[in-house]
Amino acid sequence: MKQDTTVVIGAGPYGLSVASHLKARGVQTLVFGKTMELWKKMPSGLCLKSIWTASSISGPKAEFSIDRYIALHKIPRQEPIPLSMFLDYALWFQQQTVPDVDQTYVQALASDGRGFHLELADGRSVKANKVVLASGIGTFAYVPEYARDLPATLAGHTSTHTDLSVFKGRKVVVIGNGQSALEYAALLNEAGASVELIARGEVRWHTRVLYDRTGPARHIFYPPGDVGPPGINWVVAFPGFYRHLPDRIKSPVHRRAVLPGGAKWLRPRVEGQLQITEKAQIVKATPQGQGLCLELDNGTTREVDYLMLGTGYQPGVQKLPYIDASLLSKIQQRNGYPVLDKSYEASVPGMYFAGILAGYTFGPTCRFVSGTKALASRIARN
Ligand SMILES: Cc1cc2nc3c(=O)[nH]c(=O)nc-3n(C[C@H](O)[C@H](O)[C@H](O)COP(=O)(O)OP(=O)(O)OC[C@H]3O[C@@H](n4cnc5c(N)ncnc54)[C@H](O)[C@@H]3O)c2cc1C
Repeated sequence: MKQDTTVVIGAGPYGLSVASHLKARGVQTLVFGKTMELWKKMPSGLCLKSIWTASSISGPKAEFSIDRYIALHKIPRQEPIPLSMFLDYALWFQQQTVPDVDQTYVQALASDGRGFHLELADGRSVKANKVVLASGIGTFAYVPEYARDLPATLAGHTSTHTDLSVFKGRKVVVIGNGQSALEYAALLNEAGASVELIARGEVRWHTRVLYDRTGPARHIFYPPGDVGPPGINWVVAFPGFYRHLPDRIKSPVHRRAVLPGGAKWLRPRVEGQLQITEKAQIVKATPQGQGLCLELDNGTTREVDYLMLGTGYQPGVQKLPYIDASLLSKIQQRNGYPVLDKSYEASVPGMYFAGILAGYTFGPTCRFVSGTKALASRIARN
């Protein structure tokens, strides 16, 4: 393998997007990972929370947008966007721009100071002078302490479930109040499970009132990337600008932009359809017979068949299982995120971060498909 190679770790929206831009610039690029793995594991029936204008993967030309995809295939535009439509689009994007994704996982990543050395899961090794880490959110799934020792037959994170029909006729408690928790609760209920949603806070709905009421002027209130409520959404829409904000502003802006809540189209599938208990937390979960006994901090208990954790993701660069310890120690971090320069390069020269881990420096758009727009071309320009 020649040294002048860039390796992209990950073949989700971010890995594919960066690789497409690199290849268009003639950079020798190798991409490792399972194409759209996270999305292929989501339950059928799921819809995207992101709106149409926020659901294109950035490619080197506009012809790889979701608009172009539906025009070419004569598919009617649908909102909310069904998972199957987005997946078909993403796989088409991959075939058009990065047809040679190697579906092998990277097992180890080290550096000798002059370049990078990667060990693959099938025993091969690869050298690269640049690496782009785009391995996504899968390893960051957050499981609360009380559920860590429970068997997979009794409890699991939403990300571990594809087929919700297996819960038909069973009593399931879903934890959380973000879009994932609310949507899985709705899908479980529609699959015939008896569902209760328990949330630490209140269940909020992102109603986007101004979007509906302001006609063509809606574009003043909502940038195409559509992350966060009006006002905040424009601050985070420009990651290059966000990067310069002081920490005391970044933190509350980031938190507010990703405040948990459900899309308004989901509301009628949840409210009045299933039991919701707000402002309550589980303090203990104990296997009992074939199921679980849950003790809540409000003094009540539940006997259920399964505990579904819609508890989100807690990113941290140290949680990436493949980075060699000595390389990890050279990555400057803040709050578990790598600190990046204007071209998404970490303190280790030649090492770039794409997706959620770029979020400390570049803001919450890095958690969403729309964030590929600013990120991928910038990394490829280096
Ligand atoms: C239920 C759910 C709904 C969502 N809905 C939306 C939405 O509507 N709109 C939106 O914008 N975002 C949504 N998201 C967020 C979504 O995760 C991100 O937008 C997007 O997937 C991030 O892309 P990514 O490429 O960074 O990561 P991922 O999509 O997680 O892709 C990670 C890639 O890395 C690969 N990989 C992992 N480990 C290794 C390894 N060791 N070696 C090689 N490859 C590896 C995987 O195989 C995969 O190819 C949703 C997330 C969830 C969980």
